[in-house]
Order: sequence, then structure tokens, then C-alpha cells
Amino acid sequence: MRCPVNTFLSSSQEALKEQYEKYAAEEIQPAAQDLEQGKTSLKEFLQKLGQTGFLGLTIAKEYGGASGTFLEQSLFVEAACEYEAGLGLSLSAHFQVVELIKRYGDDRQKSRYLPLLARGEAVGAFCLNEEKAGSDYSLIETVASTKQESPKLNGKKLWVVNGKIATLLVVAAKDEETGKLSLWLVDSGDSKAVKVTAGAKKLGLRSASTDEIEFVDTKLPEGSRLEGDAKEQIEFALDVAKTILAMASIGMSQGAMKLAVEHAKTRQQFGKNIGAFQGIQWKLADMSADVSAARMLALRAAWAFDDSKEEFRKFAAMAKLLSSKAARLHTGEAIQVMGASGIVEDSPTERFYRDAKMMEICQGTSELQKVIIAEELKV
Ligand SMILES: Cc1cc2nc3c(=O)[nH]c(=O)nc-3n(C[C@H](O)[C@H](O)[C@H](O)COP(=O)(O)OP(=O)(O)OC[C@H]3O[C@@H](n4cnc5c(N)ncnc54)[C@H](O)[C@@H]3O)c2cc1C
Repeated sequence: MRCPVNTFLSSSQEALKEQYEKYAAEEIQPAAQDLEQGKTSLKEFLQKLGQTGFLGLTIAKEYGGASGTFLEQSLFVEAACEYEAGLGLSLSAHFQVVELIKRYGDDRQKSRYLPLLARGEAVGAFCLNEEKAGSDYSLIETVASTKQESPKLNGKKLWVVNGKIATLLVVAAKDEETGKLSLWLVDSGDSKAVKVTAGAKKLGLRSASTDEIEFVDTKLPEGSRLEGDAKEQIEFALDVAKTILAMASIGMSQGAMKLAVEHAKTRQQFGKNIGAFQGIQWKLADMSADVSAARMLALRAAWAFDDSKEEFRKFAAMAKLLSSKAARLHTGEAIQVMGASGIVEDSPTERFYRDAKMMEICQGTSELQKVIIAEELKV
């Protein structure tokens, strides 16, 4: 069930949206539970998405992509997450790497990595968080020793989405001498220098692994730095992920709403369908209104990425804040409408409810989104 807010969609984008929805219903829905339980390999699933063209939607045709817009990519995430939101988290990390290389990579980095990322032969991961550096990434302790004959990376990153399956890592590190932050493109191939261990089991979004990665004298070959202002690059990468996760939150909210509406139409109590009771109707009405409003904002953020870059940061923060809140609230309300049938382990509503809470934390907490929105107000 789509909330009827398509203000920013052209007729060709509408057609793409329908194509994505059809694909998601036919290919993602049947795999959703097995992905969450690890019975279907996420790596192989991503490779399949890559072969079908969904991992390179915004990558230029010359690098093997579809030359599409960020808005179109966001619509794909929304469609996918109507069935499996963990996939949205994994895609958010992959797309962070894609968009960073597109915007800040040099010609050699683009021609080396973008074709692999588009085909799913390389999966991307973004390595920022550390034990001391959570919301405040200025506390990063991972260091790049660049003055040596052969530059090296040392440090440990936590909560790295796709850590186990990624082949291309974007790693934030401080220069050992100057303390200046940079982003480095690191090939995860050498397991002695890039040690990946599984992170803690988490509440939701389980199909996407969140792993720990330790860098031990990892070589940084010439040309592996993303040139430019690292703070700007990090903020940009976070804004990309926030917009993708906003669309993922909306996808799962719509998935939950669809199930709740269906249940309200068919479940009989006191001689009526429960949907005839105003108490149930108001829950569904609030759900529809809140999710529509959040969707509008998320589409606005995605549109700003393509057409109004100075507004991207503000709308990405607002979209992530409101869509994750709507998802937490309304996946719970969907369960309320479903009654006991909504809390059965491994049912979609139970999974959406666990997934939704995660969205208020990953890639920037809700509190930090308010910090950004207030900054934009210049108060
Ligand atoms: C599912 C998931 C996926 C993730 N994926 C990645 C990834 O791929 N790569 C990566 O590098 N990291 C990733 N992270 C890490 C994530 O970005 C951090 O968890 C997040 O930034 C918050 O950091 P923290 O958990 O250390 O909390 P803290 O920063 O310690 O915050 C704790 C609490 O204090 C609040 N707080 C902090 N500062 C302020 C402030 N200024 N004003 C008001 N409140 C404040 C926070 O909002 C929060 O409520 C992921 C995390 C999760 C849960």
C-alpha cells in the first residue's frame, strides 16, 4: 500500500516505481524471512541485485550503471523495504560508497571501482564508528601513517554494515602526524591486515551484518585517499545513508500498514469487521497521515540530492528523524490492530517492529538529526 504522495515523480519515475514494486513483490518478499535469519546469503542476494542493475542505479552508463537519479534509487529502497528493511541498511552502506566515489573520486578510482560496485562484484562498507567515537566522530583514533615509505592504517572500527561481505571499505582515519582526518579506499582482501569479526547480535535489521574491523598495518597504496575535505565527505556520506534509511523506514511502515488494513477488513469481533470500529480506523488514519508526511519529506531529500544540493543536508536530517519515528510508532500500532497475530515470532509485523527501533540510531541518532536541523536554523 503506497501513501498517495508522488509530488516529485515524473511519469517515467512512476513507471520505474511500478517496476521496482513488481520486482520487490516477486523476488524480495519470498526471500525476506530467510534473509533475516541468515538462511539466504546476503552476499549472493546483493550480487543478484547487482546483476539485475539495482546496485548501480545512479552510476553513469560509461561505468556500467543506469545513469539514473538518487530519487529513483530511493524508490527502489522503499519498494524493497516494504518486505525486508535489513536489505535497506545494507544498501545504504553500499550506496554511501558509490556516491562518495562518484562525487569525490578521481578518474582512476571511478573507473576502477564503479563498474565493480554497479555489478555487485564489489560490495561497499563505510567505516566511521569506533569505541570512543560514536556521534562525535572527531574522537576517531584510527591512524594513517603517511610519512612512512609505505603508508599504513591502524585502528579498529565498530558497527560496520556489510563488514563481513564488503570488498571495498571507505575508512575514516586521522593522519598520525597532523591529526587531520581523511577517507581512504581500502581493499579488504588481505585478512591479516583487515581483520573482520562478527559484531553483537542485534534487535533488528538482522539480514545486514554489523561487524568489527581491525586494521593492522594495512597498506595504503598510492591513490587510495579520497581527495577533498574529509568532514564534508563524511557529512555527505551520512546524508546519503539517512535519506536511504528514511525511505527504508517508510517502506517498512507501508508494509506494516498494508497488513494492518488487510487484517482490519477481515477480522470479525462483536459481529463486525474490526475496521468498522472508530478506534481502529483512527489508528490507521494516523498511520496513513504520518507516513505520507514522512514520505513527502524523504522524497524532498532525495530530490534535493539531485537538484538542490544546498538543501540536501537539512532535508536528509528531517526525513530520517520523522520517518524513523513514524516507523517506530506505527509498526507498533500495526501490531495493535493485528492483535496477537501481529506478535508471532518471524511474522512480518514482529520483524518490522524490531527493525523500526534500529532506524532511530543507525547512521546518526534522532538527537543528532535535531542538532543538524537546529544548526540549519542558525539559532
Ligand atoms: C544498525 C546500525 C548500523 C550502523 N552502521 C554503521 C556503519 O555502517 N558504519 C559506521 O561507522 N557506524 C555505523 N553505526 C554506528 C552508528 O552510526 C552509531 O551507533 C551512532 O552514530 C551513535 O553512536 P553511539 O551508538 O556510539 O551513541 P553515542 O554517540 O554514544 O550516543 C548515546 C546517546 O547520546 C545522544 N547524544 C550524543 N550526542 C548528543 C548531542 N550532542 N545532543 C543530544 N544527544 C546526544 C545520542 O543521540 C544517543 O541517544 C551503526 C549503528 C547501528 C545501530
